[in-house]
Amino acid sequence: MSKLLIVIPAHNEEANIVQVVEELTRGYPQYDYVVVNDGSRDKSLEIISEHCKKDKRLKCVSFSRNFGQQAAFFCGLENCSGDAAILIDADLQDPPEIFPEMIAKWREGYDVVHGVRRVRKKESLFKKASSAIWINLTRKLSDLDIPKNVGEFKLYGRKVIDAIIALPERSRSLRTEVAWVGFKQTSVEFDRNERKAGETKFTLKKMIRFAEQSTIPYSPKVLKLSGKVGVFGAVLSVIAFIAFIVLAATGNALPL
Ligand code: UDP
Ligand code: MG
Repeated sequence: MSKLLIVIPAHNEEANIVQVVEELTRGYPQYDYVVVNDGSRDKSLEIISEHCKKDKRLKCVSFSRNFGQQAAFFCGLENCSGDAAILIDADLQDPPEIFPEMIAKWREGYDVVHGVRRVRKKESLFKKASSAIWINLTRKLSDLDIPKNVGEFKLYGRKVIDAIIALPERSRSLRTEVAWVGFKQTSVEFDRNERKAGETKFTLKKMIRFAEQSTIPYSPKVLKLSGKVGVFGAVLSVIAFIAFIVLAATGNALPL
């Protein structure tokens, strides 16, 4: 039987974590689970640790501070010793009911199965617009085939997990990396629910940081442009330097 790991990142999710873990382990008792506690300052860690003592399928990894959702998901992939992993948020916005559909696609031979959002219930216009802008911009700048309307809710097969772990990046952007590594990819559609409890953990600052780290390193266009701007600035400085020398030598030095 294939071995699957479900990866759940949690940052201040005390209001959701019990329900998520119970719902998942009840629905899919045959899989393994890792909750990555991403520097929570609430009771998430205590709650998860208690659960881990009772349930052998469940493992908890805890970060020393808040490193971000990407680092948490990546840590889950690093902890995967099985055949595939499914990444899912800790707030039940993404429906576990579509796991069988994702797994069926993987068994057909796909290495990545993206969860594609058909509808996003009760999410703010800002959230929807910013994620649409991010996808379109990143697709343009990176020339990568990043599917539209996706988040991190995906199934990764073993080959893809290994390829992603082998990448040398320090700040991770799994959405971009998964497009970068290639392999056979497909998608399954779903309707995104409302967050079960609590508020979004993505502050504007975190969203901007994620947009930067997921776009610029993967965009040869931006990297080449910054190189050109650097060369242009250097040439301009040399010209200005020569002009100052000439002006000074001819007695026309500019007043400081
Ligand atoms: N999360 C995390 N670290 C962070 C921010 C978020 O591990 O710094 C987790 C969070 O607990 C949740 C998932 O990432 O399991 C998605 O976060 P959230 O639901 O706040 O994002 P949204 O759905 O609003 O985009
Ligand atoms: Mg959410």
